[in-house]
Amino acid sequence: MNLLENKKASLSFEVFPPSSKATIDGLYSSLQQMEDLRPDFISVTCSNRQLSLEDSTVKIATHIQTHHQVPSIVHLSAAYLNKGDVDQVLESLHQKKIHNILALRGDLYPEIPRGTDFLYAGDLIAYIKEWDQSFSISAACYPEGHPESANTIADIYHLREKVQAGADQLITQLFFDNDLFYQFQEKCWLAGIDVPIIAGIMPVVNKRQAERIIRTANVQLPKKFLAILDKYADNPIALRDAGLAYAIDQIVDLVTQGVSGIHLYTMNQAEIARSIYNATHSLFASTVENQQPISISS
Ligand code: FAD
Repeated sequence: MNLLENKKASLSFEVFPPSSKATIDGLYSSLQQMEDLRPDFISVTCSNRQLSLEDSTVKIATHIQTHHQVPSIVHLSAAYLNKGDVDQVLESLHQKKIHNILALRGDLYPEIPRGTDFLYAGDLIAYIKEWDQSFSISAACYPEGHPESANTIADIYHLREKVQAGADQLITQLFFDNDLFYQFQEKCWLAGIDVPIIAGIMPVVNKRQAERIIRTANVQLPKKFLAILDKYADNPIALRDAGLAYAIDQIVDLVTQGVSGIHLYTMNQAEIARSIYNATHSLFASTVENQQPISISS
């Protein structure tokens, strides 16, 4: 596979279900503003602590498809579900014509007893594919390794199992060092993982978000990135501008090097998606080859 092959990279967005009525209205307003950016798809996250997937993730994903005619991907994490729960979700998605799922194990909370039907994301992927072949499945991957993995080899080995179980594409954890992504991509190819690997990019636009990433994200923060956080920590406008410029720089490099797609962690903010789109959309417009577009199934 040639990295510089001339094929179109996808541009997609991630949003999350907000916790209050006011912020739900804010999300719907953001989605309205994202519509004319024509993303290839919008994915909606879920939470293992969330009581009802139907009233949050599925509701928002349905809204995206019906009100904005943009294909949506429902994140489905199964560590705390049994087969009956998953059957209900799949039935509901089928009825709502949502045929794109990001199949996850999800984060584990030691204080909550977990189910045994789906120990790993691969178990869920295989189950969904058996339930209905026509679901298109995305799976998560980690260019710098999943925190629970003993080593990169084990991580890539289990990633290949997810693809063998039926994952049609992979979406990465956020990263700030493109070289680590390229190394990961190469390891995947060597391991025979031949599905598109979509790069997850998070523009860092405020101090709170920057502090959270430093505290929790299990990823390397390049010197150039840390210098931005350091220098503009107390200048919100400069931090936002520099954070956006950093993400744009990553995207320009990734698309130029032939990445399959960019998945933008928008944090539900349409202005972020628009700024990135305005700065980069011409790069996404080259010819299409070999790529299955995600679609709203009929
Ligand atoms: P898995 O693929 O099951 O992997 C978990 C760990 O187990 C890894 O270390 C893996 O190497 C190992 N493993 C896998 N299979 C096996 C096996 N057969 N035997 C032994 N070990 C194995 N979390 C949410 O709660 N909600 C979301 O909406 C959400 N969206 C995400 C979107 C993306 C793009 C990404 C990258 C992550 C997302 N997450 C989300 C986080 C994710 O749920 C956590 O990282 C979780 O800890 C792992 O989920 P997974 O599906 O990657 O797990």
